[in-house]
Order: sequence, then structure tokens, then C-alpha cells
Amino acid sequence: MLSRFAPSLTGYLHLGHVLHMLYVWGIAKKMGAKVLCRMEDHDLSRARPEYEPAILDTMEWLGFVPDFGIRAGLSSSPSEFRQSDCSEYYQSVLQSLKKRGLVYGCECSRKEIQESMAGGITAAASADHAHPVPLHSSELCYSGTCSEKGLPLAGNTVRFRTLAGAVIFQDLERGEQRQTPRNQCGDFSLRDRNGQWTYQFACVSDDIRHGVDLVIRGEDILFSTARQIQLFQTLEAPVPQYIHHSLLFDGEGRKLSKRQRSESITCLREAGSSSEEIIGRSAFYGKLTPSYRPLSLDDALGLISCAGNVSNK
Ligand code: GLU
Repeated sequence: MLSRFAPSLTGYLHLGHVLHMLYVWGIAKKMGAKVLCRMEDHDLSRARPEYEPAILDTMEWLGFVPDFGIRAGLSSSPSEFRQSDCSEYYQSVLQSLKKRGLVYGCECSRKEIQESMAGGITAAASADHAHPVPLHSSELCYSGTCSEKGLPLAGNTVRFRTLAGAVIFQDLERGEQRQTPRNQCGDFSLRDRNGQWTYQFACVSDDIRHGVDLVIRGEDILFSTARQIQLFQTLEAPVPQYIHHSLLFDGEGRKLSKRQRSESITCLREAGSSSEEIIGRSAFYGKLTPSYRPLSLDDALGLISCAGNVSNK
């Protein structure tokens, strides 16, 4: 089995990432799975290359060693594990969707989509879910205005023709999930009008290419899973198993979002924190321990109980 750690190059690692790595490496250890590391810098307007060595340095310092992909000391050359190096590959995946008639060019602006959304669709999306799905704050549901216009892909947003109906999948921690991409996001974008690949498309293309079959990630991305499953199925690739873990909480039980309070590990380290203190804080804020105490990486990995129903292929 193969899982992955796939940080975006939009900032330094913080306590949320440490908790996430504890889940990825902890579950992988229990399952006998390997872990690859890839750099998600598909968004060239936000990603900054200098975060890559900083992230790798932090991973190494904390003791998270990937089995494959980019790791400390091997980060300078072009790599199939760094999304900004993979445009040709994404183009080839896009071609295979295009051959099937499943993509189209769209000239709508974000504002036009917002206006066309007014009413109905988001309400339908939330009514649809037996288990509430966290909608992404900036999530727009595209109604398909350009779907039959035959616009060129170049210079336009490239959209995937979302399949109708609900996608039902098992989250190995949370049980059965039901999402309907047609109501949730409509025909979602694979590439923007400036030629930048989107997270949904680059992530699935990479998971297929590398044979990732166990996706472990935070519950903030749960809303993306059904649409990603539609891409896997359309591309006739095996759908991975999924575990969406919970995020960080502060001492009073409130969720700590990525950008509040969660100081970068680089700063904490410079201020004198030890790796055991940082791992202990992440474990405590992640509710893996009832109170704070410094922890070795091995002890923290031992706290991760993985879903009993992961099937070992
Ligand atoms: N780059 C994404 C993040 O850091 C990873 C998403 C995923 O694991 O699918 O949130």
C-alpha cells in the first residue's frame, strides 16, 4: 500500500501539518504502507520555491522520512514529485479526458458564476448530504453556462463535465459518505484561464501516476473526495481508500484553523522548542493525548489508531 504527504508550497509547516504527518506515518506504519512526499506547487501564483527546502528541513528535523519522492538533500533537480515540473504529464491526462468529450472551455468570470448561482443550488447541495459535508468557503457551483458553446480550451478555464448522481464512498474512519458533485460544485475546473492546473486535477493525476491507494488527509478536504473519485473512475484508474482525520483544537475544544495561532515550526524551532515539544503539542491539540507532554516521534506514532477496516491489498 502507498500513502502520501503532499504539502502545498504556500507556507512553512505548522502544528496542523505535524498532526497530519503523525496520522500519515502512524497509519502507514500500522498498515505496512509506504509514504511518498510530493510538493503541491500547482498554483504558481501562490507557491514559493523557497518553502520546499524549509519544509524538507523541518520534516527531517522532526524525523518524518518518506520512502519515495522528494526528500531532504534530493530536492534540487526536476522531479515527477513536484507539480510545477509536471505540466506535460497533466497535459497528457487532459488529452485523454478531451478525447472522451468530457472537458470544455469556459469563459465565465468568477463574478458571473456567483451571480448565476444566486439561490437554489447550494441549498440543494446541503440537503443532499446524509452526513454534512463541509463546503469550502470559496466553493462555487458552476451551472454549465458554457458547456455547449464549443469554446477552445486554450485561454479559457477548462472544466470537467461532472457526472450526474450521488457518489457514495467509505471513509475508513467516518463510515459511509454521500456527495453529489453536480450539486456541490457543478462542472469543476481542471485548469484556469492562465494555464494553471487546479488542485483537484493535479492531485488525482499524481495519485494515479504514483499508484497511491491510501489517501490520508484532513477533514477540511472531505468535500473534494467525490469529485476526485469521478476523475479516477473516468480515467479508469483504481479509486484509493480514504481516511479523513480531524484537525487541531485549542485547549477549549475550538478548532484551530491553519492560519490562526498555528505558528510555523521553523519559528518555534528558532525560538528554542525541541522536536519532542512540538510533536507533543500537535498530539495534544489533535486530541491524541488528554494533556500536553513532550513526546518522541515513535511514542506519538504509537498513539494513532488506524481504522480497523482498511483492506490490505
Ligand atoms: N496540498 C494539499 C494540502 O496541503 C493536500 C491535499 C490532499 O492531501 O489531497 O492541503
